[in-house]
Amino acid sequence: MSEIHKVIIIGSGPAGFTAALYASRANLNPLLFEGAEPGGQLMTTTDVENYPGFPEGLLGPDMMQKFREQAQKFGTTILLKTVSKVDFSKPPFKLWADGREYQSESVIIATGASAKTLGLEAEKRLMGYGMSACAVCDGFFFKGKEIIVIGGGDSAMEEATFLTKFASRVTVVHRRDKLRASKIMQERARKNPKIDFIWDSTLIDVSGDREGGVKSVKLKNLKSDKIEEKPAGGVFYAIGHDPNTEPFKESIELDKAGYIITKNGTTATSVEGVFAGGDVVDRRYRQAVTAAGMGCMAAMDAEKYLESLP
Ligand code: NAP
Repeated sequence: MSEIHKVIIIGSGPAGFTAALYASRANLNPLLFEGAEPGGQLMTTTDVENYPGFPEGLLGPDMMQKFREQAQKFGTTILLKTVSKVDFSKPPFKLWADGREYQSESVIIATGASAKTLGLEAEKRLMGYGMSACAVCDGFFFKGKEIIVIGGGDSAMEEATFLTKFASRVTVVHRRDKLRASKIMQERARKNPKIDFIWDSTLIDVSGDREGGVKSVKLKNLKSDKIEEKPAGGVFYAIGHDPNTEPFKESIELDKAGYIITKNGTTATSVEGVFAGGDVVDRRYRQAVTAAGMGCMAAMDAEKYLESLP
């Protein structure tokens, strides 16, 4: 019989580590599984200038190292393992990672979401160095540049519109000739004199380097197969996010897009004793500071739940 933990946290972004910080300071000795992408999406971000309390800004990976150290300082046990299977049918809840079973009276899911990318070779070199999937996070660094936004949904319209505050020109590249975005978001983007559209096209390559950033993009017209090279100073993906909920999809209630549903403004999920916070529940704000806030809420909700047990 394995030890029964009080709280197990799954995920190591701002939500997971903040939940761990609060749970460890509440003497719950949390066990945290770092998962397949330790540190989460901030590990592919360079400068973070919008996290309050750091007026000079800091690098995404450095920030996550600080989150990690702070959670460890108060007694969080961190395992570099990925939870692949769970059984939430009754407490104590069971989780499996690397073939081993773990048990816990409560669970906090903070597995985040992964921005979809196109899987181009250039992403390995340039993500965080001219290529990004978050305009709010990185737009500021593209002052006066020509930016390419990939996508045709609300996120693409919102990001393109937002980026015109900094960019000299924004070109939305969409794979069809019809936008998926809502009318109002489309209109806002179409009316913006700084935004152009390239239709029926996809990005096939990006050139540049880590020192100088993005220099140009290669676009392919999907109808004519014509390839065009275009100068560009930045590339933003806005082709959607995938919440990391695969191991939980049979166990808790998810919405149509796979995000975890939480109840009544708390972090409670459809299973009593299982809580969730951060990008795995949030398709709207997706910021480090909002994820951290939800991690705090999840730890406080879990603490209250544990106190209520007979
Ligand atoms: P989305 O609605 O799923 O749109 C994704 C876009 O990316 C689509 O235009 C899609 O093309 C394109 N795309 C997907 N995979 C691609 C690929 N491999 N190559 C090229 N293009 C690809 O995602 P989203 O825009 O992130 O929005 C997600 C949800 O959040 C939506 O419900 C949206 O309404 C909501 N949202 C709302 C707001 C707001 O109201 N302020 C802002 C942002 C998001 P196709 O159209 O051809 O499929």
